[in-house]
Amino acid sequence: MSHPELWADLHIHTTKSDGSNTVEEIFTYARAEGLSAIAITDHDTVAAVDEARAMEKKYGVEFIIGVELSAVYEGREVHIIGLGFNPYGRNFQEKLAYFQKRRAERAKKIMKKLKENGVNVAYEDLYEITENMNNAGRLHIAKLLVKRNAASCIKDAFNRYLAEGRPAYVEKARITVKDAIDIIKEVGGLAMLAHPGILQRDDMIPQWKQEGLDGLEAFHPDHNYEEMGKYMGIAQKLGIMISGGSDTHGNGKDHTKLGRVKLPYEYYEKIKNKTKSGAVK
Ligand code: AMP
Ligand code: ZN
Ligand code: FE
Ligand code: FE
Repeated sequence: MSHPELWADLHIHTTKSDGSNTVEEIFTYARAEGLSAIAITDHDTVAAVDEARAMEKKYGVEFIIGVELSAVYEGREVHIIGLGFNPYGRNFQEKLAYFQKRRAERAKKIMKKLKENGVNVAYEDLYEITENMNNAGRLHIAKLLVKRNAASCIKDAFNRYLAEGRPAYVEKARITVKDAIDIIKEVGGLAMLAHPGILQRDDMIPQWKQEGLDGLEAFHPDHNYEEMGKYMGIAQKLGIMISGGSDTHGNGKDHTKLGRVKLPYEYYEKIKNKTKSGAVK
């Protein structure tokens, strides 16, 4: 069914990873923006899930569980969004715990590299930005660099130090796209390719579909209208689902503000129905 007035957002970060909004703030804004359904897709964690489930009724916004995993293909990061899975699977929990441990170790390495590159920071300083080193990421470190005047803005911190190929870049846990898809599907979820317009590997989408990919994000703040149309076309041609959302990290940036990019509800409905029907293996 088509509901032209209804919307969803299936790509959201909270303070449980590198977003700056709490789970409750997300629900407050989601209601204010007229969203009917949201997925919280923190990096390598489902820590928002209990709180989010408790908020659903209070705010009248449907919640579907999500996560964003990072894989690597030919030296590029490929982000895979998992939706609608059972978060209590043992292998799933162990994998997330492993990714989180690697994040803490990586943050330490990045801070060391920054120091070696003349930036006056210590690992402990990161606690000014996040209490939870298991979910530490480059955005937290970028915020610290801005706070210390070592970068003029988040973008500058990435360009100078943190982006791929820059002096303080350190890889995360290295998994393949197939690994990421398998981790999600083993717990009954749907695996979506995040922001393919940033990745620029359209040539690989058919193969990833063979490996179990269920859909892709056509709706994303880094896609222009032309790209949005292109990815809707690719999804339709391959017979996979269409997803997307704001990719909000809070922090007041207009570009990824919650509510700026919304997914028409009909696409969410297809995703939800596929999850419920048990078609997902
Ligand atoms: P991580 O998972 O620790 O590698 O951090 C990835 C996150 O950093 C992304 O989800 C974005 O929030 C942010 N990020 C990555 N690249 C950039 C960039 N060039 N400019 C600003 N933020 C970025
Ligand atoms: Zn992020
Ligand atoms: Fe991403
Ligand atoms: Fe994201």
